[in-house]
Amino acid sequence: MKTMAAILVELGKPLAVAELEVPPLKPGQVLVEVAFSGVCHTQLSEARGRRGADPYVPHCLGHEASGWVRELGTGVRKVQTGDAVILSWLKGSGADIPGTVYAWNGRDVNAGGVTTFSRFAVVSENRLTRLSPDFPLREAALLGCPVPTGVGAVVNTAAARPGQSVAVFGVGGVGCCAVAGALVAGCHPIVAVDVNPFKLELARSMGASQTVLASDADVVKRVVDAAGGSLDLAIEVTGIPSVMQQALLAVRPRGGIAVIVGNARHGETVEINPRLFNDGKQLRGTWGGDTDPDRDFPRYCRLVQSGKLGLAPLLSRSYHLPEINQALDDLEAGTVLRPLIDMSA
Ligand SMILES: [Zn+2]
Repeated sequence: MKTMAAILVELGKPLAVAELEVPPLKPGQVLVEVAFSGVCHTQLSEARGRRGADPYVPHCLGHEASGWVRELGTGVRKVQTGDAVILSWLKGSGADIPGTVYAWNGRDVNAGGVTTFSRFAVVSENRLTRLSPDFPLREAALLGCPVPTGVGAVVNTAAARPGQSVAVFGVGGVGCCAVAGALVAGCHPIVAVDVNPFKLELARSMGASQTVLASDADVVKRVVDAAGGSLDLAIEVTGIPSVMQQALLAVRPRGGIAVIVGNARHGETVEINPRLFNDGKQLRGTWGGDTDPDRDFPRYCRLVQSGKLGLAPLLSRSYHLPEINQALDDLEAGTVLRPLIDMSA
């Protein structure tokens, strides 16, 4: 069978949209019909060549989606044909099958354990999580990356407690989910920090109680003031080394925690005054919000279904697959928080 897919052929160039031949399933793989795929900065960085050399081109991409199981490789037990599923780069239980090779006019096109910028995708069992049939598939696509990363950074990595003050530096898709996670955790105040006033407005609709425009002077002081004079937790989601420094500077001495979520460009480093550690500040990294999909995805689903985790502001704009390059451009320009690719046309 064939599928329409977006392909990274050359770094820094627009993605090609073309028909690929889908290979037969290996044991542990699942054929999924993709319903909606999110687009995140990881794919933008890949496409623009900001992650360094890429030995896999030409390759498929995308790592967060929703869809339906259409065919099972041998040995797959976690899902059944017809199931609605979340596709995610985060590994859960099940077979871990690293990759797939599609064919494109006699040329090989690589794909990892999960890719989502295609109508049909061959996915490793461990990148799938079953979804209850009444869960909305648009929201479900966000459960593959921004929700677990953003909410998890707050509730798992920082282990936020009710009443703690939180600042989120960078309120794109993942940052807005961190804001929503802070709201779910009962944090207050919740300070959103960004250079883009449009994103600050959206962060307010996701639960931010204060906003700080990061292009003005004295960002650290204004964030601490907005947090009521003492900031317990900072979540950094920009990938900019100077903002990582600001996050650590802003948290309080003796127990303040800064969590770094953002991906810096390849080769960049961050300089830190070690005195901050002697003051008792903590710096933490995170692997996708320290999410365990089998444990956490059902929890996030319940939060969405009960209305406690509102994702609607993130779903403002959808595109069809042939418009994938427009989606990447709009994400880069900051005019859309989380482009959603609707595979139905
Ligand atoms: Zn992502």
